[in-house]
Amino acid sequence: MARTDAIVLGAGIVGVSTALQLVKRGLSVALVDRRAPGEETSYGNSGIIEGNTVFPPAFPDLPGLIRVALKQVPEANYHLSFLPTIAPWLLAFRAATRAAKLIEHARLVRPLFAQAVDEHEMLMQEANATRYLRKTGWLKLYRGDESFKKLKPELETAASFGIPLERIDVAAARALEPSLAPVFAHAVFWQSAVSLSNPLAVTRAYAARFAGLGGITLSGDARTLHRNGTRWRVETGEGPIDADRAVIALGPWAPDVLEPLGIRLPMTYKRGYHRHFRAQGDAGLSRPVLDADNGYVITPMEQGIRVTTGAEFASRDAPPTPVQFDRLLPKARALFPLGEQIGETWMGSRPTFPDSRPVIGRAPKYETLWLAIGHTHWGLTLGPVTGRLIGEMMTGAVPFCDPAPFRAERFT
Ligand SMILES: Cc1cc2nc3c(=O)[nH]c(=O)nc-3n(C[C@H](O)[C@H](O)[C@H](O)COP(=O)(O)OP(=O)(O)OC[C@H]3O[C@@H](n4cnc5c(N)ncnc54)[C@H](O)[C@@H]3O)c2cc1C
Repeated sequence: MARTDAIVLGAGIVGVSTALQLVKRGLSVALVDRRAPGEETSYGNSGIIEGNTVFPPAFPDLPGLIRVALKQVPEANYHLSFLPTIAPWLLAFRAATRAAKLIEHARLVRPLFAQAVDEHEMLMQEANATRYLRKTGWLKLYRGDESFKKLKPELETAASFGIPLERIDVAAARALEPSLAPVFAHAVFWQSAVSLSNPLAVTRAYAARFAGLGGITLSGDARTLHRNGTRWRVETGEGPIDADRAVIALGPWAPDVLEPLGIRLPMTYKRGYHRHFRAQGDAGLSRPVLDADNGYVITPMEQGIRVTTGAEFASRDAPPTPVQFDRLLPKARALFPLGEQIGETWMGSRPTFPDSRPVIGRAPKYETLWLAIGHTHWGLTLGPVTGRLIGEMMTGAVPFCDPAPFRAERFT
């Protein structure tokens, strides 16, 4: 039986970054996953490190809700059978995305997002992964005047935080991305967002850096976590491992371990899909592009042009239903010359709390159990800052930002 200071359960971008931040602070750390690092949700995302994030996605207005209910829109889908389960969550989500609440949310989460790009860049430099980093910003397109007008509060809040952005016209957007067809009316260029050409490779690079600093990576089932006297124990392929402290960084699978420990948090899953395509002819993209009115992103990856979908409200483990592609692909093809599909359709689940804030900090009831979960649309962005915050709190250092907004107790 081996012993460490801390066991980190889950080797997605959040768990790997946390394990790396802990080992850098002098702790002996075991990182446990049933798969290799980065192969689940942290693989399939749009690769955007969104330091520019201000407002979370909001509950739709009545006309929008009707269109979602009728399954007419590309940006969202749902399984009817899941609605009774998710109804309380949806009501809480609606309350959390009222206008005044959005501004409060922006203020609470700003310190995390403001530090997100720098923290990634520091880890990328150490991990020799800067070749995957593109400092080319993020382009958001608006097909109609209506959706663009609705942006006003968000753009004003962003400006009040000093986040660089530029409202640009169609010609200026096409000067940045000449392969885009002029099917949109407005654009916002968020210059300070950065993106990755291969999120999986970056998580792997951080995992390799963790190993290089003496961290241990083990294969095991997190559901075996239990108390062993005053310590935590997990069974792994190399035998049991004990630690004084444990960190749950299991993304959408966190409830599988927390609920048996009596910790129930209101996490749901915004499932999302991606497909890769070749670009036709010599068409190309230099940065991620959001088609805001249709809720999908096209982004250049090493594997091809990745098209990612918005949210599907369905049970985490229900079979994939990638119907959103039928609705969005005609629009995406009109915007950018997508060629043939490469490979299979991928599905992942964004682990999401109703206030769209992650839980970062001590678990309720257990002094020595830590949570780094619920990063919804921004787990890639926030992995390294989450790890830093956990590392600082765990080692008694002064946290770089107020951790109170991220406490699990806000739900209890
Ligand atoms: C379509 C889509 C697009 C997205 N785009 C972006 C984006 O552009 N920018 C951004 O910041 N975020 C984006 N996200 C969100 C982001 O990908 C997630 O928030 C993030 O990957 C969550 O990371 P994680 O480490 O918490 O979870 P995961 O990456 O899912 O890691 C959890 C780990 O736990 C392991 N695990 C689970 N159960 C067990 C068990 N019983 N035993 C052992 N191990 C277990 C899994 O194998 C996995 O490795 C997107 C998400 C989707 C779906």
